[in-house]
Amino acid sequence: HLSRRLHAILNFIPEKSTIADIGSDHAHLPCRAVQEGIARKAIAGEVRIGPFKQAQANVKEYGMTDMISVRLGDGLDVLSPKEVDTVVIAGMGGELITEILDRGEKKMGADTTLILQPNIREPLLRGWLSEHGWKITGEAIVEESPHFYEVIQAKHMASEQKLTDAERMMGPFLLRNQTPIFKKKWTNRAAKMRRILDALDQSEQTDVVSEKKKDYLRKIQMIESILNK
Ligand code: SAM
Repeated sequence: HLSRRLHAILNFIPEKSTIADIGSDHAHLPCRAVQEGIARKAIAGEVRIGPFKQAQANVKEYGMTDMISVRLGDGLDVLSPKEVDTVVIAGMGGELITEILDRGEKKMGADTTLILQPNIREPLLRGWLSEHGWKITGEAIVEESPHFYEVIQAKHMASEQKLTDAERMMGPFLLRNQTPIFKKKWTNRAAKMRRILDALDQSEQTDVVSEKKKDYLRKIQMIESILNK
């Protein structure tokens, strides 16, 4: 059994690819990708010894030690240059994902496919991608109550992909498709921001609208204008 989140990630892996799953934890994703014949080979990278050992044990149990190499190390350090064509980094904050990509850029080639699933700070990650020559080629959003997870697929491109503020915040593909889950996420988010704004209104004695409030208001208005389109 694979969670909705991991299924959504699996769907973005190109057929017959060689993948690296960085921060693989139990190595569930590479085992499944190889088992289903989507990936030919996989590398599972882990920085912590506990999860690394667990990943090794699971790969052995699946009988996949020939196809999946489990490696202990930080980020993309576990790879040699162009060893894989697809890099998956899932289940971490967007900031950590950008740090890992930043430090490991040399390990990737012109044909590398990235599949990223930030738990938070998706806009920061999209901003990093657009500024570093990556183009978003697909996105998905899934709900595992109470969480919403976004999956972002990206590939290299010659020129810069500029994102609007709304695309950066909500995702260019997700924005265009506006699935019911997308609508639910952003309706909830706008309502939460409104509550924070109301609380700020009550706690702040001054009539001056603070930068923080302006920022919330700007975001709420952006979300509402998009949801009402
Ligand atoms: N990728 C799996 C998933 O999506 O279900 C596991 C997510 S788990 C919450 C995050 C994992 O990333 C942890 O096992 C953690 O040890 C690992 N991790 C964090 N920073 C890392 C780094 N710099 N390099 C490799 N692994 C890292």
